[in-house]
Amino acid sequence: MLEVRPTCEHCNKPLPPDALDARICTYECTFCADCVDRVLGNVCANCGGGFVPRPVRPRTNWKGDNFLGKDPASTNVKHRPVDLKAYAELVAAIGSLPADQR
Ligand SMILES: [Zn+2]
Ligand SMILES: [Zn+2]
Repeated sequence: MLEVRPTCEHCNKPLPPDALDARICTYECTFCADCVDRVLGNVCANCGGGFVPRPVRPRTNWKGDNFLGKDPASTNVKHRPVDLKAYAELVAAIGSLPADQR
């Protein structure tokens, strides 16, 4: 199940479960839309993959106990600001490969 992390890894901005500006990669690395657009250029600093908008987990028990009341969002803050120099090297390495070999 998706962890629904509480903040942006880079700037530590709060990203509550209903935030529309939360972005995640396939490993659930979680960043705000500002950081993804302005700092990361849609390349995850941890895995090199892309991001998608994080879905909202409902706060209402619409069906089958699948809601925040039963499965609360994570409170485990992962504030690991991106090392911009290492990140630039990662992006350069990824960019040197054809798209189907990344
Ligand atoms: Zn951020
Ligand atoms: Zn990632």
